[in-house]
Formats: sequence, C-alpha cells, structure tokens
Amino acid sequence: MGNVTVLEHPLLRHKLTLLRDKNTTTGLFRQVAREISLLMAYEVTRDLPLEPVDIETPLEPMRAEHVAGKKLCLVSILRAGNGILEGMLDLLPSARVGHIGLYRDHVTLQPVEYYLKLPTDVAERLCILVDPMLATGNSAAAAATRLKQAGVTQMKFVCLLAAPEGVEAFCRAHPDVPVFTGAVDRELDGNGYIRPGLGDAGDRFYGTR
Ligand code: URA
Repeated sequence: MGNVTVLEHPLLRHKLTLLRDKNTTTGLFRQVAREISLLMAYEVTRDLPLEPVDIETPLEPMRAEHVAGKKLCLVSILRAGNGILEGMLDLLPSARVGHIGLYRDHVTLQPVEYYLKLPTDVAERLCILVDPMLATGNSAAAAATRLKQAGVTQMKFVCLLAAPEGVEAFCRAHPDVPVFTGAVDRELDGNGYIRPGLGDAGDRFYGTR
C-alpha cells in the first residue's frame, strides 16, 4: 500500500483506543493526543543522522554522538493539525513550525489555500507535515504540493488515522513522501468520515460540537 508505516507500539495502540472512544472527554482527548504525537515524533525521527562529538563525562573524555544538525520543520494543516504540534514539540523543542490553511471549494470540491506561513529557510529543512486524519487525501496532497513548491525536498506525512482511500490518493500524488499513521481504518464514508475512526478530530480537540 505505497510508502506507508503503521505504527505498532502497544502504548500508541492503547492510546488510540482512548481517542476513538466517544466517551473520552475533550480534556483527556487532548492529553492523550499529545502523548501519541510525542510517540509518533519519536518513530518518525528514527532515521535522523548522528555524528560523533567529543565530550567529557565526570570521569573521562569520550567520543559520544549527537544528531547531525538536521534542521526540522513541523507543518500543521489547520486546524486539527495543531492538535498534533504540542506533543511533537515536547520531543523536538527546537523544530520550526509552519501552518497551512486549506478549505474545500463547494463547487470544484478541490482544496483552496487561505493561509500559509512557513519558515524562510523551509527548503533546507526536513518537513514533517501533520494532520490527524488522512481521509480523502486531498488536503494532505495539496499541502505537500505547496511545500514542494516552496522548495522542500525532504518530507514525511504523519496522521493519527487514515482511510485506505486517503492513503491511496496521497501515495499516488506523492510517492516520495513516506506516510506514518496509527492505523488504516476500514473505509471513508459518504460524508468523508473515516470509519470506524474517531469522529471529527477538530471538534474533538477543541470541543466545538
Ligand atoms: N476529518 C475528520 O476530522 N474526521 C474524519 O473522519 C475525516 C476527516
């Protein structure tokens, strides 16, 4: 199914169940999403290059390792993507953050950009594009296209849940962008919701319904 990694860590799977449960309160949903996002940031940065560094422990000098100056940028697709940022920033506090706002045109059904703010040196950074739900894949694919237009050459896409339809559409449009997700659910329903899913991620993060 394309360039897709389903994250299998038992804690992540456990926490995903809490997010799916309709009885989970807004406060708990936010807290658990933050914890999952931290775990996802850990998984998605597994291949960051290391380089040697000479340090001294309290006992003797040693050659240790540190991350080789890889510059990161987290890019949130508004608004629900913001719910993923906090947990990722807990683990990657120096990462820069960009935002992309897209709405769906009612006539063409295509995503239209209404907001874009990226770091000026985004082209030099590994971008981690985040949106909790990969449903049709249209917004994520449009956001990835926009990042490429801004010069980004290294990108990963991270979501909590995906529909098979969204995975297929995104991977067809961007076979070079690896997708990391907590699960690939059964299907996309006629209203564009992932089933069984977790409902509307934005509403669940912000308590708007
Ligand atoms: N967006 C959501 O928030 N939930 C879905 O199930 C699909 C898209």
